[in-house]
Amino acid sequence: MKILKGIAIASGIARGEVCCYLTPSEETLPHYAVSPGDIPREIERFRAAVLSAQQEMRQMIRVIEASQDAKAADIFNAHLLILSDEQLSRAVISLIEKRGVNAEHAVNDAFEEHIRRYDALEGHFRELTHDFVDTRDRILQAFGREAGHFKCDISAGSAIIVAAKRLTPSMVLTIPRGRVLAFVTEEGGITSHATILARAYNVPMVFGIAVSAEMDCGMPVVVDGSRGTVVVAPDKKMTQYYDKKIAAAVRKKSVCMLSGKAEATTRNGKRITLKINMSTPDDLTLAHDLPHDGIGLLRTEFLFMDKTREPNEDEQVRTYRSILNACSAKPVTVRLLDISSDKLPPFLQLPARVNADMELRGAMAVEVFQELFIVQVKALLQANTHGNLRLLYPMVSDIGDLKTFRTIVHQARAILTREKKPFNADFTEGIMVETPAAALMADQLLEEVDFINIGSNDLLQYTLAASRGSAVAEARYHILHPAVLKLISMAAAAGRRAGKEVCICGEVASFEEFYPILLDIGLSSFSVTPAKFGDIKCDLMHQDIAAGKKLLTDYSAAKTKHDADAFFAKYL
Ligand code: PEP
Ligand code: MG
Repeated sequence: MKILKGIAIASGIARGEVCCYLTPSEETLPHYAVSPGDIPREIERFRAAVLSAQQEMRQMIRVIEASQDAKAADIFNAHLLILSDEQLSRAVISLIEKRGVNAEHAVNDAFEEHIRRYDALEGHFRELTHDFVDTRDRILQAFGREAGHFKCDISAGSAIIVAAKRLTPSMVLTIPRGRVLAFVTEEGGITSHATILARAYNVPMVFGIAVSAEMDCGMPVVVDGSRGTVVVAPDKKMTQYYDKKIAAAVRKKSVCMLSGKAEATTRNGKRITLKINMSTPDDLTLAHDLPHDGIGLLRTEFLFMDKTREPNEDEQVRTYRSILNACSAKPVTVRLLDISSDKLPPFLQLPARVNADMELRGAMAVEVFQELFIVQVKALLQANTHGNLRLLYPMVSDIGDLKTFRTIVHQARAILTREKKPFNADFTEGIMVETPAAALMADQLLEEVDFINIGSNDLLQYTLAASRGSAVAEARYHILHPAVLKLISMAAAAGRRAGKEVCICGEVASFEEFYPILLDIGLSSFSVTPAKFGDIKCDLMHQDIAAGKKLLTDYSAAKTKHDADAFFAKYL
């Protein structure tokens, strides 16, 4: 038996046999010199391969669209854009011409350059690396190169634990749902496109495991997606331990099924506000049948990313209206554009050498890109037909930041009035608490606003000076570090004193095991990703709030990530 420690990406426990996915190795790539006379023929081979990859991609998109998987269709449409990228084509052709190498080799080198560049970036952009890998492999396959494939026969019938170097969107889609028990990989990030697709399978995922060195087809393993561990060849005691946990989870789920459409409550009857985080309009489709209490966080960045120009006012009105109307009876919390290094709209003209995480967040961005924010607020006020808009300002650290946002709202209203456009300025107003400063000033901020949302992802990075999305930081600091929890607890207490809502919408709210302590510090409003809504609601039904358990005091004794993991392991 061997216990491998990786990074927990999606919770749950699975026991089964491994099936390894093999990515074609570098050695199988033909590499030869091309004489000057043959260069035009080599360029022609490259163009033909791209054409064939594009045709294959279009065909795949048609099939995906027919199955109404809009998220997957978007991802492959983005791959189609990479395939049509003129700059990349020019780079390949220039390598063929200048270095006299064959087309496959030039494609590999040109993409490698991009892959390296994206891999060096932070957050979302880094995770685009996998999309470039996927697109490169598709062109190389069009030259007749072997595609990635499963080492063992997956047609046999039983479900498998997929082990791979990394997930790519194409690879994920080759495995039918219901046939996967868990995903285990060496590389990958929580928010990459492939991970988003894999998350829809609702199975445990652990990344950061030395798959090629430690795992092979047919090996019996247990994947613990909550602890981020993979147990290879578990012994009898370990197998029994996990079988009991799996059985308990099945029992728990069946009890929850009975509660169906009921609202979220704890075992001792306390009503909990459970809302949905939305990062794209697709999340609304996922949330449609869930008994949620509204949208707790609409990240509006999706409207601004992947665009070569700023979305205009009408376009924004249409998008916001469709979301606000779809949830007309429930509150919809819309966060104004939140600029950061991993969320930089491509069309923005940035000041030279700016550090977006330190000089362009929240109110600082509003001061640089005033017009952009005025248009967004104008669009939101026009879309607020039912008055269910909750306007949320990102990264507010003090009253000065709040005033900057309010000035924009004031200007937007004045312009709408001047333009005689109908709008509804009846909205509630809140701020994101994402810096230690905001948590420390929560009493003062709550005198001004109607509610606060705690963004624990950024609160972690700004409290510990550790970049979010960095594997080094993730390995060192617990996502609910005791220092962060103390700040969250201060904000929760300020909310109680003011009699105003404090909702936690960072990733920590999407992990069941943190709820005993989050409830214990007095939080009763949470906003979670739609994929986790059912599990969290179910878990709440099994939570007993015994007031005064003082878990925070106990947890404050945790000195390392290991201590913190051990503290929460008892709730898994
Ligand atoms: C957060 O920081 O916790 C948060 C919810 O905002 P985002 O993840 O969009 O930065
Ligand atoms: Mg944030």
